Amino acid sequence: MSKIITEKSKKAFAEAQNFIPGGVNSPVRAFGGVGGTPIFIKSGAGCYMTDVDGNKYVDYVCSWGPLILGHADPRVVKRINEAVANGTSYGAPTEQEIRLAQLIKEAMPSIEKVRMVNSGTEATMSAIRVARGYTKRDAVIKFDGCYHGHVDSLLIQAGSGATTLGTPTSPGIPQDFVKHTISLPYNDMDAVNEVCSKRGKEIACIIVEAVAGNMGVVPPKKGYLGGLREITKKYGIVLIFDEVMTGFRVNYGGVQSLYNIQPDLTTLGKIIGGGLPVGAYGGKKEIMDSISPVGPIYQAGTLSGNPVAMTAGIATLEILKDNKIYKDLEQKSQRLAAGMEKVCKDAKLPTYHTRVGSMLCTFFTDQPVTDYDTAKKSDTKRYAKFFHGMLERGFYFAPSQFEAAFVSTVHGVKEIDATIDAFKDVVIGL
Ligand SMILES: *Cc1c(COP(=O)(O)O)cnc(C)c1O
Repeated sequence: MSKIITEKSKKAFAEAQNFIPGGVNSPVRAFGGVGGTPIFIKSGAGCYMTDVDGNKYVDYVCSWGPLILGHADPRVVKRINEAVANGTSYGAPTEQEIRLAQLIKEAMPSIEKVRMVNSGTEATMSAIRVARGYTKRDAVIKFDGCYHGHVDSLLIQAGSGATTLGTPTSPGIPQDFVKHTISLPYNDMDAVNEVCSKRGKEIACIIVEAVAGNMGVVPPKKGYLGGLREITKKYGIVLIFDEVMTGFRVNYGGVQSLYNIQPDLTTLGKIIGGGLPVGAYGGKKEIMDSISPVGPIYQAGTLSGNPVAMTAGIATLEILKDNKIYKDLEQKSQRLAAGMEKVCKDAKLPTYHTRVGSMLCTFFTDQPVTDYDTAKKSDTKRYAKFFHGMLERGFYFAPSQFEAAFVSTVHGVKEIDATIDAFKDVVIGL
């Protein structure tokens, strides 16, 4: 094994810290979860990224999910170039916005109307506002370990009991902003039933990562999503599936098509932007028509529906529409997950493996992971060793235990088998 040289990345990181808080524009990139200094990237092509020192990595972060076609897919790049040549923004409606909305609606029939925004955070923030405005209720239920972007009212830590008040997880968020947010354990239907039986008529919405992907990958238990659908119907609560990560990822129609459960609202992002900044929220016509300019609930955006970003999204979804793609992705992801699991088993290393489609996770724990509490039992020091071991061998996994690994359409069997082989080598040191 040849240790990689990362002198230029180290230099860039030192310099970046003079200008940018922590040297990064999103905290997880700083490698705080695994130690060491971040790799600065120069370029990406297919399933590979090349850093500023010239090291090449098989990329399992895929920009945290958006790059399901890998880096710089030539078909997407061509369409982006054509779009840019026609001007980058008009602040007026375009036909591209109709086309992307149409593709989304076809993929997810629960979405009758959809509004474009610029990030996943904006999508969840807006969806919650609409749910509150529409129901004329204030309370929101979310789940521990589910991440919905850095929305003030959702950055909350659960209280000690289901009915105690949560506290903000970040300074700068007044306690008053989160007093209407109830955080419950994921995959625990009893907790939801208990709160709803007392306060069901006060609750505007339940927002859930239908497959959780921000505490590592944690699939919903059998009957959980159906249970959420039932109880929200009973109390007139808006059910929001946050499919920013899972939409067009777990399959074309997202978790809602995989488990055949229709939420009232869906939030999207990541893949629908084809690598450019896009978010969206949509759902029942009746709810969506309460948004301005049709209804009274305000939401707007200078660059929303940006023609270049719309074009990247359209190009990506038009390629993904071919369902063979997801079959192939499933097989490759299965091969990687099974291969990694076998490596751990052979080495007698206690791990727990989860996967839904092309999202997968190796938790370094001997217990099943079903929620945030069990996810947190993972040995993060061991994960850090895994991460650095793989990085040194040219495989770029997320710099945190509590993230997914993503397989793209351009990860070949060759790269996947090489990943498993490298892991065999790394596991010895764990
Ligand atoms: C990434 C993510 C978000 C936030 O999206 P940003 O574009 O980073 O603001 C929200 N919800 C989920 C489930 C996500 O994975």
